[in-house]
Amino acid sequence: MFEKNLYQVLELSWRSPESKVRESYRRLAKSLHPDLHPNNPQATEQFKEVAHAYWVLSDPERRKNYLLDHPRFDPPPTSRKTSAQPGFTSPRQKTNVKPDQADLHIRIHLTLEEYAVGIIKSIRIDRWEGCPACEGTGIAGGVKSVICTVCNGEGSVPNLTGIGLAMIPCRRCEGTGLQSLSACSMCIGKGRVIIPQTIEVKIPAGHPENEAIILKNQGQLDTMDCDRGDLKVSINLKDHHYFERQGKDLKYYCRISLLQWVEGCELKAPTLDGPVVLKIPPLSKPSGILKVRGRGLPQKAADPGNLFVHYTLHLPDGLTKKQFNLLRKLHETPGFAPQTDDQGFFPRKA
Ligand SMILES: [Zn+2]
Ligand SMILES: [Zn+2]
Repeated sequence: MFEKNLYQVLELSWRSPESKVRESYRRLAKSLHPDLHPNNPQATEQFKEVAHAYWVLSDPERRKNYLLDHPRFDPPPTSRKTSAQPGFTSPRQKTNVKPDQADLHIRIHLTLEEYAVGIIKSIRIDRWEGCPACEGTGIAGGVKSVICTVCNGEGSVPNLTGIGLAMIPCRRCEGTGLQSLSACSMCIGKGRVIIPQTIEVKIPAGHPENEAIILKNQGQLDTMDCDRGDLKVSINLKDHHYFERQGKDLKYYCRISLLQWVEGCELKAPTLDGPVVLKIPPLSKPSGILKVRGRGLPQKAADPGNLFVHYTLHLPDGLTKKQFNLLRKLHETPGFAPQTDDQGFFPRKA
């Protein structure tokens, strides 16, 4: 709702004394009062800004907190140490205060399948919003309750005396033109409350994992200052049931039996969009890697990754008696077992 710093809203510098804050507020509130601009939402918004700025800056404690939170005013203070206000800290002395609480950071967890095609996710966030009860001003009753209703902000009212009509100070507001302000009970004067929101985040296919998706002005209202921050969404990819990830490439591990190795076989491998079938010729290498081009993870501004299918020959952990007897019979057939020379050694291959 509010964009400028609170002193700018009141057309003041942050050095301005308290009396100027009140004077400026009264002048602006009178000229911007919604009653004078019934069909002008912009004036109403400006009026709310002015009321909120006054609410914060007219109270020593609130002003002090505001200045501590916002070390951004120019020019830097020079003789502030001798300030008459006890407890006043100049804004520049607190440069370690980071005024970016307005940005919200969240992390979204995606399956590889979701990441591969892109997805719109609905997420729930709790964020600070302008308080609806006081229209973000922090003042009980909101914008309607700041100008004295008896004198209409003039500070004086007509009075019929013996010698005619004279203006006398308004008793209701003691001549200030302003009502005495009390804090909104919903937001305890902060002007902000936490409101849960559901936001849709569009994640394009293959969006870089290390690059947050930034939703401008979807963050929350900063403490007291009311700049709205951004919502920063980071992506986290969940582990997959089948695949191991290496950057944009995927690895799938499988095993073939001795018979499949001897006969050759068709190997079925999953991908993120349906299975593929790969051929292993008879008696090829007992373990190897088959590359399936372009079936890894998609990339926003680059070629997609590849799928690598790692296969190995499966050797059983143990054999049953029946298996053992069959294997022994097989072993005794000519050409099955490796041949050694008459010393029992293997001669070097030519
Ligand atoms: Zn409120
Ligand atoms: Zn009055």
